[in-house]
Amino acid sequence: TKFSDLDLDPKVLQAVAEAGYETPTPIQAQAIPHALVGRDVLGIAQTGTGKTASFTLPMITMLSKGRARARMPRSLVLAPTRELAAQVAENFEIYSKHTKLTMALLIGGTSFKDQDRLIDRGVDVLIATPGRLLDHFERGKLMLTGVQIMVVDEADRMLDMGFIPDIERIFKLTPFTRQTLFFSATMAPEITRITQEFLSNPERVEV
Ligand code: AMP
Repeated sequence: TKFSDLDLDPKVLQAVAEAGYETPTPIQAQAIPHALVGRDVLGIAQTGTGKTASFTLPMITMLSKGRARARMPRSLVLAPTRELAAQVAENFEIYSKHTKLTMALLIGGTSFKDQDRLIDRGVDVLIATPGRLLDHFERGKLMLTGVQIMVVDEADRMLDMGFIPDIERIFKLTPFTRQTLFFSATMAPEITRITQEFLSNPERVEV
C-alpha cells in the first residue's frame, strides 16, 4: 500500500510527504481505509507502530469539510497522560498544517482561561486527558453533542490509571451516532467490555 492509494485529503498527503513518510505502517494501511468509510475501529497496537497517524490522518480528511461551532468540538481525542495528549497534538499540527482545522489541547498544568478562549471560538479537534475534559464540562464551558469522531488512545493505560469510569461518562456525553476509533495495546476484560458497550460493529485491526 502507498499513501496515495489511501483516500486521504491531498493536503494530508502533502504533509505526510513533507514529514518524510514513504509508506504507511501496517496499522495505518489497515485502519485508515475503514476509518475513512465511517466504520468504528478497534486497533490493537503498541506505541511506535504509527498508530497516532492511523487515527489523525483520517480524522483530518473527514473533518476538512465543515466548520467548527462555538463550544461544540467536532471531534475528540482522549489520551491517558498530559505527555501523550501533547504528543498527539504535535502530530495533529504536523499533519494538518495545510488545512484550516483548529485544535485545542486540554491538559492539566495550563490555564483554563486560554483553553476556554479557544473552545469559545470553536475547534474542530479537542485533544484532552479525561479528567481535564470533565473539569471543563462541569464548568459548563463545553458541549460534546457535536462530536462526530471520538478517539480513545492507549485504553490499557487508561485502565491502569483508573480512568475507565471517566471514559464511560464521556462516551455517554457524545452522540450515539458518533464514529469511534479505539486503541489499546492489550485487551483486558474491562477493555473488551467497554468496546462491546460503546463501539458499533467495529472493524478489528491488530499489528
Ligand atoms: P506512534 O506509534 O504513533 O507513536 O509513531 C511512532 C513514530 O513513527 C513517530 O515518530 C511518527 O512520526 C513515525 N511514523 C508514523 N508513521 C510513519 C510512516 N508511515 N513512516 C515513517 N514514520 C512514521
